[in-house]
Amino acid sequence: MEQLKEQPKVQNFINGSFESNGHAAMDVISPLDGSVISSLPLSKENDVDKAVKAAREAFPEWSSKTLKDRVQIFFKYRSLLEEHMHELTLLVQLENGKTYNEAKAEVEKSMELCEFAVSMPQIVVNEIQEVSKGVECRIERRPLGVVASITPFNFPNMVPHWTLPNALVLGNTMVMKPSELVPLSTMRMAELLQKAGLPKGVFNIVNGGKEVVEAICDHPGIEAVSFVGSTKVAKIVYKRATSTLKRCVALGGAKNHLLVLPDANPEMTASNVVASMSGCAGQRCMAASVMVGVDNVQHIIDRMVEEVKKVVPGESLGSVISAEAKAKIEAYITEAENNGAKVLVDGRNATVPGKEGGFYVGPTIIDYVTTDMSVAREEIFGPVISIIRAKNLDEAITIENGSNYGNAAAVFTQSGGLAKQVMERASAGMIGVNIGVPVPREPFSFGGWNESKFGVGDITGRSSIEFWTQNKKTTTKWNPEAQINWMS
Ligand code: NAD
Repeated sequence: MEQLKEQPKVQNFINGSFESNGHAAMDVISPLDGSVISSLPLSKENDVDKAVKAAREAFPEWSSKTLKDRVQIFFKYRSLLEEHMHELTLLVQLENGKTYNEAKAEVEKSMELCEFAVSMPQIVVNEIQEVSKGVECRIERRPLGVVASITPFNFPNMVPHWTLPNALVLGNTMVMKPSELVPLSTMRMAELLQKAGLPKGVFNIVNGGKEVVEAICDHPGIEAVSFVGSTKVAKIVYKRATSTLKRCVALGGAKNHLLVLPDANPEMTASNVVASMSGCAGQRCMAASVMVGVDNVQHIIDRMVEEVKKVVPGESLGSVISAEAKAKIEAYITEAENNGAKVLVDGRNATVPGKEGGFYVGPTIIDYVTTDMSVAREEIFGPVISIIRAKNLDEAITIENGSNYGNAAAVFTQSGGLAKQVMERASAGMIGVNIGVPVPREPFSFGGWNESKFGVGDITGRSSIEFWTQNKKTTTKWNPEAQINWMS
């Protein structure tokens, strides 16, 4: 298998140039084999300030271009993503550890996100009406100014594209803070954006950790903050950014429940559940984490066990992100076992020949989990599914509703009536019927409920247009004979 090796040092990208800041650095490690592939500067408040200044200076010219002009750059950029698909895929694989096909799917999804952004001129059409004789009112969408985007480790290429194309096409300029665990894809994106003709200062990157995030939340020159990551940090960011009166949408973690009914198609259900829990090594906010088996679904569980045995670490299953993540996932499995759950397929202590330094956890199925166990309540973020047995659909829905999270939920059945009950009663923002990863694709928007998202609206699709713009309402009268009334 082709694999990239050591990469250049990570640098910030400010005002169209890559630059080092001389701060302390941390290693960037490839989870595929545990090797050091680069180093990342732990930037500080003054770096954020510098990036915001560049973005503020670029804003007047960028925002005064027409929407049709701005999308031209993203037509070119989308072609560059396609042209560089193989290289971008290898980079995602190197820094995140997912399989080649999973990494490629991520870059393809980024292209689709650009396709939505370039369609903005067809969607964002201003409104105008003659509200009384000779008097017109018009509403137009205007950009906010400098906005920020803070991203997680699990989709190094796709999640930055949830925000960047839409926010920029709509006339904003941006400061992005990638996850310190996967900074390389974002650096490469900056190069390709520049090649596509994006003016300097419109897109900036500040690398680092917590200190950068805090400086972004506090900076008076930033108008809006989008965040994607764990619920713990989403809460911190949402509170801190809104306390300085910024607009904020913060997407958090997940604990997605799949409700499996006895009439479900066994083959389709088993393959979908296994793909959902093990795809991207379970490090997806849309991954199946709990399967609630309603009544007797033993025949489906048996098929799942067969299916999961085909998933091989290092081949069809990538690594998890770090040694800490591996240890944490394995500790969850051990705790469940110690508390009386039955481990049907055990992924602990997985190794991949020739990659002994990598962080691999095999796919794991835990049966007879009870709702009080931590594997039933907490986000594990690994290729692990916990099976809870429920007597009937009401009990299954009550279990789903009991989660603090609310990203996705799915039902597997051949009965339209029972599926409809789950569609109506599940407490989650994204629902699947016979689909294990119910991601709404553009123009539909992505976002969960409860502790999986803080703030109004969703992060992608049509809903994001509201987030990245503000309405300007203008009332005009040109004709002196226009009717005079109370509002003239
Ligand atoms: P994380 O919350 O640890 O990190 C996200 C970002 O926050 C990173 O850029 C990181 O540098 C920064 N950060 C970390 N700790 C911080 C702190 N104490 N203060 C300020 N900033 C801090 O998340 P992660 O581990 O990178 O990503 C995995 C998590 O993201 C999972 O919980 C997953 O469910 C979630 N996620 C959610 C969605 C969604 O759409 N809801 C999508 C992808 C990932």
